[in-house]
Amino acid sequence: MTVSFTLTPEQEQLKMAARGFAQEYLRPMMHGVGNEADPLRRAMLLRPVFEKAVQAGFLKALIPVPFGGSAGSGVDAAIFIEELAAESPDFVISLAGPLIALAPVYEVGTMEQISRFVAPFLADSGAPVAAMAYSEPGGSANFDAEAPADGVRTTAVLDGDEWVINGSKAWASHLGGWDGQGPDLMTIVCRTDKGVSLIVAEREHLQGHVTVEEYYDLAGLRGCLTTRVTLNNVRVPKGNLLGLEGDGVRLTRNAFYASGASIGTFAVAAMRQAFDIAHEFALAEKRGGHAPIIHYQAVADILADAKGKIEATRLLSWRALDAVLRQDPAAPELALHAKVFGSETGVEVINELIKAVGVTAFNQGFPILRHLMDALAYPIIEGGNVGVRRRQLQTLMSTPDYDPLFASGMA
Ligand SMILES: Cc1cc2nc3c(=O)[nH]c(=O)nc-3n(C[C@H](O)[C@H](O)[C@H](O)COP(=O)(O)OP(=O)(O)OC[C@H]3O[C@@H](n4cnc5c(N)ncnc54)[C@H](O)[C@@H]3O)c2cc1C
Repeated sequence: MTVSFTLTPEQEQLKMAARGFAQEYLRPMMHGVGNEADPLRRAMLLRPVFEKAVQAGFLKALIPVPFGGSAGSGVDAAIFIEELAAESPDFVISLAGPLIALAPVYEVGTMEQISRFVAPFLADSGAPVAAMAYSEPGGSANFDAEAPADGVRTTAVLDGDEWVINGSKAWASHLGGWDGQGPDLMTIVCRTDKGVSLIVAEREHLQGHVTVEEYYDLAGLRGCLTTRVTLNNVRVPKGNLLGLEGDGVRLTRNAFYASGASIGTFAVAAMRQAFDIAHEFALAEKRGGHAPIIHYQAVADILADAKGKIEATRLLSWRALDAVLRQDPAAPELALHAKVFGSETGVEVINELIKAVGVTAFNQGFPILRHLMDALAYPIIEGGNVGVRRRQLQTLMSTPDYDPLFASGMA
């Protein structure tokens, strides 16, 4: 592997195209999102821009080339996500459903399953959405727990040539689709006779069998359409089981590595915006003193420390996404660190930047708080750092042959 930290001409182009799209479409869209109180109406403001992104090829850019898409390297993905998420992480999370929901399809899908399940997301028009239905209302950190614990409660029972799926799912974007009738594709983590399994339901199976019970009114990432739904006798063909029955725990864990690694990049996008706001304030504002507040060492220290942590998180996230997309054996550990370190650094850095700005930051009209509210989500989404991600790191480090130098290639 050649190591270079200079963007190629193609990556420069990608960065500018994503930045241009974000500033032209996402920025004005977020003004509307900020002013809309109803969670469904708020999320619907994303839909016309979603369609533009599909037309621009952004959805296809999430699908790897061997499966018909145009995804580039992990660093390409990081650049693309950072630029879009700087204006609207809500939008990227909404668009990126297939990143998680299709991951197990790429890993163990048959040729027939791959062509059927990936097809909706190769479209050049419309607004196709996918949901990874892992989380459940009663908690999901222990989804793999054996009886007498509940573990996954959603069940799938074979009835002739069909799985019949019943249960409740929560939190994943687009569990109800745009219209409450279900997404174009839902990868369902459920319990079958042989343990935890993954079964795909397409929109035709979901219509009439999904009930949206609640639209969550999120404190940050306000444009995300997250819901609690009931699955009521969803019937799908037997052949929609992914891989082996009972292999769902491993497949679910693997499905969340790419999105976990990308959380580091989401955190960078939030920190970068908060830094710009605080830096501009510190250069301009004297707050009644003799000089702009950046000339106070304490303020400059906060800005300097923030900038260093942003740079460190960006590099870790590039490395992690690169490893995940290249299927490097070091990918799980790097992805977990990008998720845990990136998300927690994001909250810490933005909180410090708010202190540098002072009381002005606490007015809702001042733009910095929104980035903290978004960043507060990152430690708890995509597998919470406490109940899921640090436990995965513990498992890795507890194996007798764990080598701390392995992930960095320095072993
Ligand atoms: C915007 C958004 C998008 C999301 N997207 C998706 C998605 O696409 N798909 C999806 O399925 N979900 C999604 N979620 C939900 C998210 O992934 C959660 O991380 C996941 O549901 C697990 O929640 P949790 O970690 O809080 O676990 P919970 O089971 O709710 O546990 C709560 C807390 O209990 C403690 N705990 C529980 N068990 C243990 C344990 N064994 N060891 C230590 N501590 C423990 C921890 O403190 C943990 O934080 C999304 C959520 C949001 C807000």
